[in-house]
Amino acid sequence: MENGEWKMENAMQQDGAQPTPNSRLSILDFSNFLIVANPLKALQKLAEAHRENFKIPVIGITGSNGKTIVKEWLHQLLSPDRCIVRSPRSYNSQIGVPLSVWQLNEEAELGIFEAGISEMGEMGALKRMIKPTIGILTNIGGAHQENFFSLQEKCMEKLTLFKDCDVVIYNGDNELISNCVAKSMLTAREIAWSCKDIERPLYISKVTKKEDHTVIAYRYLDMDNIFCIPFIDDASIENALNCLAACLYLMTPADQITERMARLEPIAMRLEVKEGKNNCILINDSYNSDLASLDIALDFLVRRSEKKGLKRTLILSDILETGQSTATLYRRVAQLIKSRGINKLIGVGAEISSCAARFEGTPERYFFPDTDALLRSGIFKTLHSEVILIKGSRVFNFDLVSEELELKVHETILEVNLGAMVANLNHYRSMLRHPETKMICMVKAAAYGAGSYEIAKTLQEHHVDYLAVAVADEGSELRKAGITSSIIIMDPELTSFKTMFDYKLEPEVYNFHLLDALIKAAEKEGITNFPIHVKLDTGMHRLGFSVDEIPLLIRRLKSQNAVIPRSVFSHFVGSDSAQFDFFTRQQIELFEKGSQELQEAFSHKILRHICNTAGIERFPGAQFDMVRLGIGLYGVSPIDNSIINNVSTLKTTILQIRDVPGEDTVGYSRMGHLTRPSRIAAIPIGYADGLNRHLGRGNAYCLVNGKKAPYVGNICMDVCMIDVTDIDCREGDKAVIFGDDLPITTLSDKLGTIPYEVLTSISNRVKRVYYQD
Ligand SMILES: *Cc1c(COP(=O)(O)O)cnc(C)c1O
Repeated sequence: MENGEWKMENAMQQDGAQPTPNSRLSILDFSNFLIVANPLKALQKLAEAHRENFKIPVIGITGSNGKTIVKEWLHQLLSPDRCIVRSPRSYNSQIGVPLSVWQLNEEAELGIFEAGISEMGEMGALKRMIKPTIGILTNIGGAHQENFFSLQEKCMEKLTLFKDCDVVIYNGDNELISNCVAKSMLTAREIAWSCKDIERPLYISKVTKKEDHTVIAYRYLDMDNIFCIPFIDDASIENALNCLAACLYLMTPADQITERMARLEPIAMRLEVKEGKNNCILINDSYNSDLASLDIALDFLVRRSEKKGLKRTLILSDILETGQSTATLYRRVAQLIKSRGINKLIGVGAEISSCAARFEGTPERYFFPDTDALLRSGIFKTLHSEVILIKGSRVFNFDLVSEELELKVHETILEVNLGAMVANLNHYRSMLRHPETKMICMVKAAAYGAGSYEIAKTLQEHHVDYLAVAVADEGSELRKAGITSSIIIMDPELTSFKTMFDYKLEPEVYNFHLLDALIKAAEKEGITNFPIHVKLDTGMHRLGFSVDEIPLLIRRLKSQNAVIPRSVFSHFVGSDSAQFDFFTRQQIELFEKGSQELQEAFSHKILRHICNTAGIERFPGAQFDMVRLGIGLYGVSPIDNSIINNVSTLKTTILQIRDVPGEDTVGYSRMGHLTRPSRIAAIPIGYADGLNRHLGRGNAYCLVNGKKAPYVGNICMDVCMIDVTDIDCREGDKAVIFGDDLPITTLSDKLGTIPYEVLTSISNRVKRVYYQD
């Protein structure tokens, strides 16, 4: 492959060492290494070749929303009859897909894989690996953010997955999808389902929503049937209909479909990280209980527990319906837990308890016959400074466990989607002209409000070259929490040099006063060659050496050896807007000249950088050696305020709903005038949480169950009121202040400010909750 670019090496042969029975061998000693020019391409080619070995039906699922749910539900619906290999979690990317396809084995009778793309042109590689015979196109979303043409383009790209399918399944009532399918002239048979058109191959004759379930009647091949699903939201219904079509195509008898649809389980799509009592961190994973997902969750646990001093604890229920014998299953579970270095296992259920002896490799072990016994045992009081993974099959009701362990605070939370942040990182990485260009990620101001530690940790895992914070204390906090990446301090205070030396935090230096003080402090400590980052002023006129100060700067730097310039940089004034392009080009020119002058005076390489987020995209020619990614990482494109991948969601819970007569007013100073008898909900978020008071009095809205609920009257310090007269909702329902369906830029536009300000205004008392898709 790869024109003979493969090279194979075997670690043992290379060492020439023979393993003796007693020597401790690591897995690397038995590994073969393939050295390739492009590991991703090689991985994909391997997956393609592997896929060729299987002549089985393979379902490929793509679309904007619902891929993972459709995949998991199909697994629930079809697995009793056949051995299925499917993507773990949402492994649907350029790396996730080959890892998924790689799992195909001799026993497999059906494959179910998701394909997700973030850019045009990516689907080709995914198609070659998945080679689906059955295609499912789930919902194409995002209509509120993008125009129809870009959606259509996206849809067409997605459909290329299905070029060689035998059958394609989609929502025939969705005009966009129907048009695209028609335009892409697939040769496949189509099962378009429709609630409107009786001529469609699968006609949905009636959908009736009840209190807690939906009854669906359908006609397929002239036969009428009916089934229920235990969900009532539109997205679940659409997902279920896509599953129905696939089951029918695979000739699943109608009575089996009916029976299994009624038992569909909800899919929690993510690993939730929450703060627990007694300095514990909780990772809640009620996703599904098979070995593959356990492995992923354990990996996540291990990465979170590297933070100093936290032990690793696993609360695990019986793993149901894996098709393996109890003995084999728990032998493998025990191996997995041991290899991940779990300190404490709390097993719940008859089966895992019966295998207690197998877990001897884990230092502390406790077993309980059921969840009730666990809750009554008092063991939770003994959990201290631990990272606890809670993983249970649904029947074990582990919600009760996490509720018990969770630290209860203010009901208003900022949810941070780490997966979306990584997607944004990759989005901007893909814009780098040269792969070796380095990247600084800005985590100043508590990572633009998202919370420094988790963000920094995730960025470190993705090997960004530098993190940048504003002040030394932010940097030392990260160090204490275990962050080892290089860290730049953008605003070094004269009083914090010691902290910087102690924690190896590299300061920006912007004038002689600061430079001299730094050199003096370093010399006093006997420090040499401490890296600094020289800032040039090319037009911002905020901080920085002017270009004509460079000769003096060079002389000063050369006259000492306490500090050494690691990089030289400048900052754009208006790189986001074409209006300032002339000025931006002047800045680049001035920077080019100034930074070169500095470089020429030294024999070591000094990294040059000027691009912020907007610069990376709009001035790729100015990416130099390094770029500084800020707002884009957090999901907002500074160029047009569009959302790339939404990272943060600010949400709260309705405390109370009241009917208020039409002639009354709501809130302070009687500013909330009603025009009709209204239902008014109170939510526990106010200006002290960062909800700007100017959004009140009907100037903006939040979302309750997907519908707009305007703020009524003045926003108070800790609470505000919203109008839910036209919304079907109850106390305890969620209200979304901003998030996937209500872009933060809607709020910043309303306020006449920038999204940066809205993000960084969210106060500390709002708990940050992290999750990974
Ligand atoms: C904050 C900051 C950035 C990042 O700017 P974005 O517009 O968020 O990309 C880059 N460079 C410097 C010096 C900064 O202070």
